[in-house]
Amino acid sequence: MIGAGTMGNGIAQAFATSGFEVELADVGAEVVSRALATIGKSLERVAKKQEWPADRAPAILERIHGGSTLDVAGDCEIAIEAVSESFALKKKVFEQLDAIARPGTILATNTSSISITEIAALTRRADRVIGMHFMNPVPVMPLVEIIRGLATSDATCALVMDLAKRLGKTPVEVNDYPGFVSNRILMPMINEAAFCLMEGVASREAIDAVMKLGMSHPMGPLALADLIGLDTCLSIMEVLHEGLGDDKYRPCPLLRKMVRAGRLGRKSGHGFYEYPGA
Ligand code: NAD
Repeated sequence: MIGAGTMGNGIAQAFATSGFEVELADVGAEVVSRALATIGKSLERVAKKQEWPADRAPAILERIHGGSTLDVAGDCEIAIEAVSESFALKKKVFEQLDAIARPGTILATNTSSISITEIAALTRRADRVIGMHFMNPVPVMPLVEIIRGLATSDATCALVMDLAKRLGKTPVEVNDYPGFVSNRILMPMINEAAFCLMEGVASREAIDAVMKLGMSHPMGPLALADLIGLDTCLSIMEVLHEGLGDDKYRPCPLLRKMVRAGRLGRKSGHGFYEYPGA
């Protein structure tokens, strides 16, 4: 697992819970130990809720080996990348992974919107590169969107579909277009909610209440944007705008302003809402 942020933590937890050994790598040992602490707390919550025997959560945590560098990919059967949503960053990581991992190792990306075909073309194993797009929060969300790049082989796709099922998830296969299906539909809605707030159509609470109570969404779009991370939302809108070439996908200026101010949502303690103590 490359990247130990919001998604990397959740994905590592899901694999370890299903009995897999996980190597978790990030830019430094400190980030990884923070991630392990977060996973430990999350497992404690699940253990309490599902009344696990006392030794189950610690045993799961022991299957996640942290403090590692990308070199661990040399021994892995599948490497999943979940670094920040930036093509330049993913390019660097995939070029390194392609050099380190065995030729048979599958390289998957959890990208929300960046082209799988373009990422695959950076490697010498385009047939073994695939999108494995988990939803946030990973331990509770059943969907994994599986994205085939132009050269992804049937064998790779079948193996990754099966892997998602072994995690207790439901994989859904889609083709490679900007934002795939999930963010092609979700992110313009979130962006439009930001426009509504910016234009004073309604307060943040009113916008979220309309979508929760009127459309049966479990969370309002602004609260969901805070959960996803406003920087991630902005990056996805930029990919949709550039990739589809239509101004209907232009990112809301308020979203841009908030990212520039460092208001990234829950992870920074402040987004459309405030999260004291985050
Ligand atoms: P995040 O900001 O929480 O975490 C990103 C992590 O990547 C950080 O810990 C950072 O230190 C690490 N990183 C940066 N450069 C690195 C490198 N060179 N090597 C190793 N680690 C590096 O971001 P996130 O929300 O976890 O998103 C990660 C990916 O998952 C993105 O592609 C995002 O689009 C996608 N995604 C996010 C969500 C969501 O709701 N947040 C949902 C689905 C998919």
